[in-house]
Amino acid sequence: MGGLSHMFKPEFWNYAKLISGVLRHEMPIQDVVNLVTSLKLDSESINNWKNGVERALKKYIPNGTKAKGKCGECGSENLVYEEGCLICKDCGSSKCG
Ligand SMILES: [Zn+2]
Repeated sequence: MGGLSHMFKPEFWNYAKLISGVLRHEMPIQDVVNLVTSLKLDSESINNWKNGVERALKKYIPNGTKAKGKCGECGSENLVYEEGCLICKDCGSSKCG
């Protein structure tokens, strides 16, 4: 029983509302992920939640969507999302989760 009520803590609720709001306004999922990634959160439980949300949302990014950032292996900016992972088109390295 305790596990479920945990999900309805105000801070969880607020962020869930925020995300469903931006999705309703047809903000690209990639931008929502970037937004969530940029949130500065100091409590450990909300950071766990944040990481979970990022992972969950990334699964909905269409394959081949251009990603922001640089490849950790070769420094190329030619990154795309593929099955929820970031793939470097130049060296083929992938980063999931
Ligand atoms: Zn690369």
